[in-house]
Amino acid sequence: MIDAVPDKVRALDEGDALASFRARFALPPGVIYLDGNSLGALPAQTPARLDAVVRREWGEGLIRSWNRHDWIGASRRVGDKIAKLIGAKPGEVVVADSTSVNIFKLLMAAVAARPGRNVILSEAGNFPTDLYIAQGVVSLLPRLSLKAVTPDDLVPAIDEDVAVILLTHVHYKTGRQYDMAAVTRRAHEKGALVIWDLSHSAGAVPVDLGAAGADMAVGCGYKYLNGGPGAPAFLYAAERLQGELASPVTGWLGHAAPFEFSDAFQPASGIGRFLSGTPPILGLAALEAGVDLTAEAPAAILFEKSRGLCALFIETVEAFARDHDLEIVTPLDAGARGSHVSLRHAHSYPVMQALIADGVIGDFRAPDIMRFGFAPLYLRHADVWRAANLLRDILASGRWDAPAFKTRAQVT
Ligand SMILES: *Cc1c(COP(=O)(O)O)cnc(C)c1O
Repeated sequence: MIDAVPDKVRALDEGDALASFRARFALPPGVIYLDGNSLGALPAQTPARLDAVVRREWGEGLIRSWNRHDWIGASRRVGDKIAKLIGAKPGEVVVADSTSVNIFKLLMAAVAARPGRNVILSEAGNFPTDLYIAQGVVSLLPRLSLKAVTPDDLVPAIDEDVAVILLTHVHYKTGRQYDMAAVTRRAHEKGALVIWDLSHSAGAVPVDLGAAGADMAVGCGYKYLNGGPGAPAFLYAAERLQGELASPVTGWLGHAAPFEFSDAFQPASGIGRFLSGTPPILGLAALEAGVDLTAEAPAAILFEKSRGLCALFIETVEAFARDHDLEIVTPLDAGARGSHVSLRHAHSYPVMQALIADGVIGDFRAPDIMRFGFAPLYLRHADVWRAANLLRDILASGRWDAPAFKTRAQVT
């Protein structure tokens, strides 16, 4: 059984300047949701917003809404809102396609901008889509090769043959965070470009693309930005580079003047050149609602709370980890991690299923990782404390060791 939440933890919630944000989400009762790093929770304002876009803008406005409700500007408008969360300037971020497709667009643009260089450098064990897309680029351009190294080997591997480095800022599995400014500086010394995947960073940890001198970035809309399942992704290209980067997906909405309907492709002058086809307006509307809500929270307080939630979870788990053969995989140094914590255990899959059965939702990442995400907008310190203690209880009782918890679902 789980004890009452200690006063020390209650006091953290009483002093939480973001406490009122929890009611701005439609969270199911009885659930402690620790998977906002994979699919963010539903903002309470999103259903009404979607209803208005469907019934009023689509149903009544019909095609007039491209102008009247600025559907045509949504990719850039929402991009500018995301820009503020990641230290980019207006006109440097656009919302389009999926993260996977945006990685493809930027990798192709980057290797074309660095002719004579033959290596795409990345991290072994990076998020699969990042590596798979890089492999696809190499199969299209056989002069290139993909070199994937461990984080410790990364900096020495940056040499004059590297065209572009593709890294995930906060690692999806371990939660490790790269020093963006240091890696970018080193890459620039050697003449290479860097693409940062911010999927586990945007809305969760401080990101300042401008201060880091970052070249390019991508990220998901459906994780900490709470844009909903399959929300469109974002793409950043520094203003100083936009003129020399060409998207390989030369769709009509990336054209300088799409409504002239000319035969020859001429890229838009700014970030708009990374648009491809007609944007998903319903997905963009849900993403905008999620981004608007995140933007209401003072950034410094948001990221401070995220660090505090992770620290409380780690501290609570540390007290029993050794007794139950649990390894804390995520760096203990708060500055070197993101907003999720990963634990290694020999029976991570059934243990996570047992947690979910008891209302604590995290996820499992093969082969042996339990992952717990701490979204600062809607979690309480008491939730984090309860989740860690429920984990202890499940391990101590051995009740994870039941056939029902061992059948692998398609999505883990
Ligand atoms: C979640 C995630 C993705 C997802 O890409 P999609 O194209 O949206 O499926 C990509 N990269 C990283 C690092 C992720 O964490």
